[in-house]
Amino acid sequence: MRSPHRPRDTRSGLVLDTHELGRRAGAMTTVSTTAEAPAELGIAVIGVPPGSPVQLDLRLESVVEGVLATGTATVELRGECVRCLGEVADSLVVDIQELFVYPESDAGEDEASRLEGDLLDLEPLLRDGVVLDLPFQPLCREDCQGLCVECGADLNGDPEHTHPVPLDSRWEALRRPDDSSYDVHSQSQA
Ligand SMILES: [Zn+2]
Ligand SMILES: [Zn+2]
Repeated sequence: MRSPHRPRDTRSGLVLDTHELGRRAGAMTTVSTTAEAPAELGIAVIGVPPGSPVQLDLRLESVVEGVLATGTATVELRGECVRCLGEVADSLVVDIQELFVYPESDAGEDEASRLEGDLLDLEPLLRDGVVLDLPFQPLCREDCQGLCVECGADLNGDPEHTHPVPLDSRWEALRRPDDSSYDVHSQSQA
């Protein structure tokens, strides 16, 4: 449109244009929008499905050194329960509070977030926030009963599930006097 010089693709929705703040310290705007989740956002057992909605609710505030972004990004999570291997469906609210330093400003460290022209890229922040907040042992629910170690049945649907026969045979094995080596050893000590 009127800005063919814009360097970044803003279609991902995670790149916000701060142009309207006009670099007037004190100017403020709010952003409430839905972006698409980028690929590979998460860890092996749980993550944000690529292309799923990322709800952004942010306040962008122009300050002397740059633009301060505060608010939240709400993402969907899909994963696998570590106990029953069932699907884990959850959402995660990532807090965002970051100063995006103006490109030409001396303020901030080398690793500080920087604007690119008027554009502010939330993706690195979102990645850091999501990975920090992800459950490393995702559960479908707090009290998931997991799977039966004998047969793999889902104990959530069958809490009374038991295996009397294999249990009995284990006790039989313990009663069998085939660990007589222990007895011999203890006798030799006596
Ligand atoms: Zn589970
Ligand atoms: Zn079983």
